[in-house]
Amino acid sequence: MTEKVAQHTHCQICGKTIPISETLCSDECKQKYQSMVKKRKMLVYIMYALIFVIIIMFLLSGRT
Ligand SMILES: [Zn+2]
Repeated sequence: MTEKVAQHTHCQICGKTIPISETLCSDECKQKYQSMVKKRKMLVYIMYALIFVIIIMFLLSGRT
């Protein structure tokens, strides 16, 4: 059977062991996490924009 270990999880930024009720270990990591989420959102928007441009170009090249 599994060993009796206190329920815990790891900080998503630095990997430090933290209580299961937490997601991040400190305010510093929270700030880093928030900027990471923002960057990720930006990447998603850029990807959508690129897909849009590719579709437009595809449609335009098909017409000529
Ligand atoms: Zn951390």
